[in-house]
Amino acid sequence: QPTDIVEMLEDVVDRFSFQFRNRGIVAKVEAEDGIGNVVIDRDQIDQLLDNLVSNAVKYTPDGGEVTLSASLSETKQMVHLTVKDTGMGIPKKDLERIFERFYRVDKARSRNMGGTGLGLSIAREIVRAHGGDIRIESEWNVGTQVTFSLPMTFEGSEASE
Ligand code: ATP
Ligand code: MG
Repeated sequence: QPTDIVEMLEDVVDRFSFQFRNRGIVAKVEAEDGIGNVVIDRDQIDQLLDNLVSNAVKYTPDGGEVTLSASLSETKQMVHLTVKDTGMGIPKKDLERIFERFYRVDKARSRNMGGTGLGLSIAREIVRAHGGDIRIESEWNVGTQVTFSLPMTFEGSEASE
C-alpha cells in the first residue's frame, strides 16, 4: 500500500526526537510540493533512513542541523531522498571507500563514537536490492549529504501502470 513520503520522513524525525532534543540538533523535513504517495518497501526504507539519520546525529556536533528531503526525478520515475547534516564531514580520501563493510574514517575519531562501520554498507545493499543508487557528498568540517534514489510507482500518476 502507498506511503505518504512527508509522513514517512516526519516519522523518522519522531523516532530520533529524544536524541535531537538531547543534542540541541534542529531537524527539518523538506519535500517537493505535492510529492504525495509512493509504493515503497516501507520496512526496508525506514531501516535505511534510520541508518543515515543515526550517522547524521552521531557525527554532528551539538547545536547542528539535520535535514531530510524528498524530490522526484524529472520523469517522476524515481524518488530522491536526502539526509544532510552540518557535521564534521568526511575527508575526500575516505569518501570513495565509505560504503565498504567495516570502513570507518580515522579510528581515533571513530573510537569514542561506537559502531562497527556497517551502517553505510547495509544502506547500499538495501538501495541496490531495490534497483536504486546511493551517493555521498561531504566537506570536512562543513557537513555531509547522502542521497539515494529509488525507482517508484506513484499512486495515481500517469507514470504508473
Ligand atoms: P555503524 O553504522 O555500524 O554503527 P559507523 O557509523 O561507524 O558504524 P557507517 O555508518 O558505515 O559506520 O559509516 C562509516 C564511517 O563513515 C563512519 O565511521 C564515519 O567515520 C563516516 N560517516 C558516516 N556518516 C557520516 C556523517 N554523516 N558525517 C561524518 N562522517 C560520517
Ligand atoms: Mg553508522
